[in-house]
Amino acid sequence: MRTHWPGSLTGAGGGGPPHIVSSIGYDRITHGAPWPRLRSPPPGLADPRYTARVNTPPTDQPSAGALPAAMRAARFHAPRDVRVERVPVPAPGPGEVLLRVLVATTCGTDLKAYRRGHPLLLGPPPAPFGHEYAGEVAAVGRGVTQWALGQRVVGANSAPCGACSYCARGQESLCERLALWNGAYAEYALVPAPIVARNLYPLPPDLAAASAALCEPLACALHAVDDAGVREGDTVAILGSGPLGLLLLASARRAGARVVLCGRRPERLDLARRWGAAVVLDTATTGEGDVQARAIRDQTPGGRGADVVIEAVGRPEVWATAVAASRPGGTVDLFGGCAHGTTVTIDTHALHYEARTLKGTFHHTPRHFAAALAAIADGTIPAGELITGAIALDDLVSAFARLERGEGIKYVVRP
Ligand SMILES: [Zn+2]
Ligand SMILES: [Zn+2]
Repeated sequence: MRTHWPGSLTGAGGGGPPHIVSSIGYDRITHGAPWPRLRSPPPGLADPRYTARVNTPPTDQPSAGALPAAMRAARFHAPRDVRVERVPVPAPGPGEVLLRVLVATTCGTDLKAYRRGHPLLLGPPPAPFGHEYAGEVAAVGRGVTQWALGQRVVGANSAPCGACSYCARGQESLCERLALWNGAYAEYALVPAPIVARNLYPLPPDLAAASAALCEPLACALHAVDDAGVREGDTVAILGSGPLGLLLLASARRAGARVVLCGRRPERLDLARRWGAAVVLDTATTGEGDVQARAIRDQTPGGRGADVVIEAVGRPEVWATAVAASRPGGTVDLFGGCAHGTTVTIDTHALHYEARTLKGTFHHTPRHFAAALAAIADGTIPAGELITGAIALDDLVSAFARLERGEGIKYVVRP
């Protein structure tokens, strides 16, 4: 099924808190070692459809089209205080790329940050904001030879270093030098050199920018399904029907699983049915906690529980429900990040005698980002269907208000 959109996440890895990099004149990394040179090309780029064209000879001179001096950009000042302001258009430094943002998409993590603040994600205020984007190359810094002006691209909001012990083990989301980037809610976005080198991808010509911007959340979902070891024929229960719950459903279906999805709000549950959930449980009627866990188990072979449960709500009590809904020997992936400092209590019997595996998945890796782009581009995962509508950058706050009222799933922000 091919999708064309009709024109109209976060916690810290095991290596310590991620460093913060922001877009507009982004802060150089102030702690941790500098980014080393990457040793290998980004995985997943071997596919010729996604191989960047080398269309300019190497040059030491930065190049730029005609750029304005100032732009509009959303900046986070405090919880519930996000302003669209005029700021200078940043000039790309060595290895950096300046994008003219075509679209940015709203994200549950951004909504959380808007409501409560998110120092780890956003850095000191006024902070650039937004991390799901697709754009057009507007200027390149010294040493950038693989991107041409006007080329359409999608990028991740981080890049692993490729050299630390976590990266060497393929656990790039735990990279010791992982930096989380923000600044997509703006007319122009400055992409840091590590992302340019390792996590920036050309768009296939017929792929809508709005669909491409969803690579970031889809990459997180593909990462979780991979991490949880979902196999063909598994019954996978997904707790949560937010954008990530729905992308987890699509990712688990792509892996050949039968999915039981629990959530609320008819619009989201309808989409879950369209995306092939075998069973959709509305928690408004099933209830939560033990009754919900039982309702899930009732939908599994022999009532034993799901082979894999993925929690995509981010509340400790739902983590407990996830464990209770899983079968002995099954896997529980605790994907939804809970508020800082929260704890859960787990029945030791469920872990030891019933041999469950409990694990967490955080963020994405370049290989999952590349896989997300491939799945969106070939229509395997019609992520664009998550988009409820488009809004202007100046109306960003109204999109958060709509999401808070439960209206819509994701909004495209057009600068
Ligand atoms: Zn996101
Ligand atoms: Zn690393």
